[in-house]
Amino acid sequence: MSEKIVYGNVSSKEAIELEEKYGAHNYHPLPVVIAKGLGAKVWDPEGKEYYDFLSAYSAVNQGHSHPKIIEALVEQASTCALTSRAFFNNKLGEYEKYITEAFGFEMVLPMNSGAEAVETAMKLSRKWGYMKKGIPADEAILVFAKANFHGRTISIISASTDQTCRKDFGPFLSGIELVPYDDVAALEALLKEKADKIAAFIVEPIQGEAGVYVPKDGYLKQCFDICKKHNVLFVADEIQTGIARTGKLMACEWEGVHPDILLLGKALSGGVYPVSAILSSKEIMLCIQPGEHGSTYGGNPVACAVAKAAMEVVKNEKLCERAVELGEFFRGELQKIKHPMLELVRGKGLLNAIIIKPKDGKEAWDVCVMLAEKGLLCKPTHRHIIRLAPPLVITKEQLIECLEIIKSIFAEL
Ligand SMILES: *Cc1c(COP(=O)(O)O)cnc(C)c1O
Repeated sequence: MSEKIVYGNVSSKEAIELEEKYGAHNYHPLPVVIAKGLGAKVWDPEGKEYYDFLSAYSAVNQGHSHPKIIEALVEQASTCALTSRAFFNNKLGEYEKYITEAFGFEMVLPMNSGAEAVETAMKLSRKWGYMKKGIPADEAILVFAKANFHGRTISIISASTDQTCRKDFGPFLSGIELVPYDDVAALEALLKEKADKIAAFIVEPIQGEAGVYVPKDGYLKQCFDICKKHNVLFVADEIQTGIARTGKLMACEWEGVHPDILLLGKALSGGVYPVSAILSSKEIMLCIQPGEHGSTYGGNPVACAVAKAAMEVVKNEKLCERAVELGEFFRGELQKIKHPMLELVRGKGLLNAIIIKPKDGKEAWDVCVMLAEKGLLCKPTHRHIIRLAPPLVITKEQLIECLEIIKSIFAEL
């Protein structure tokens, strides 16, 4: 059986074989090859069309290959792509002004990947702890929530409770303490006991990888207040929840929290280029001095032009408002599905998940495979949770079509 190739010059089968043979096996993808993307849809090499309900883990909030973002990319790439920070460039300052004003912070430190943003926040928090809070040398503690996901570097997995990420990668970083997520009392107890050595509490407003775990109302605000009481920085990792995904530019805004340090990545570039950012006050940010931190590509002109264009799309196309409206509609419709395998629907804005109760040996993975066959792509997280997070540019008509696909799968199960 040889199907005609419509996009590119390798078939799905060949693409998978090549990755298996020459690529490290550090992922376990669904057996779907994507060759083209536009808006809420993607296509495989043979031309089969899918709705993208992963959005590259919420990097593609603005939709695949948004023309405005691609235009900025192409224009800047053909003018000047990289200068390094050994010199000034004429795009960085303009972008820095734009992004700090957009989120209400005084300063930004530009990096590339999400993990680098988290690393940077860890360094900045420690530095602030020593310089401003007066923590004794080398004794700073960073507090994280259990079941977190902040990335894959050694220092970040030092704070992970997921044994798959950690096994055989030790020894780990010291100076890390964990508290259960969504447990204000646990944080309060730890801060009471060790506040003089704690520099920061680093937390996701909604735990994405943990399965779109939405904490109780008031959790973030109460944690923030406890941090303020003990002079501990409140660091929000909004790499997945930020940039309109939950219906606000920052998910923290739902509780009126303005974090001391904000981490952005993923949709900051609309999925077009690796761009991340650490936003904070002058007081905190200036703890880092020349030569103490950096990245060759961080703040490069292409990244600046792309991120600015991506943020303009969020504003002009009212993606926050869309996420709120469509999210409410989507969850409401999902909740109407009555099926023994569908245990729970949860989420905020267009960051949602369904919790699957395995039945007849069928788990979340099998549901995702069936959805993919019918043209809807999503990925399980753990064995029983399916995250449903389409690009925020998806139309209501398209969303209705997708709900029909989801309903038809449950009817078959
Ligand atoms: C994806 C993610 C990261 C890591 O970003 P990378 O770009 O993959 O390094 C960090 N924190 C959260 C909450 C994420 O979702």
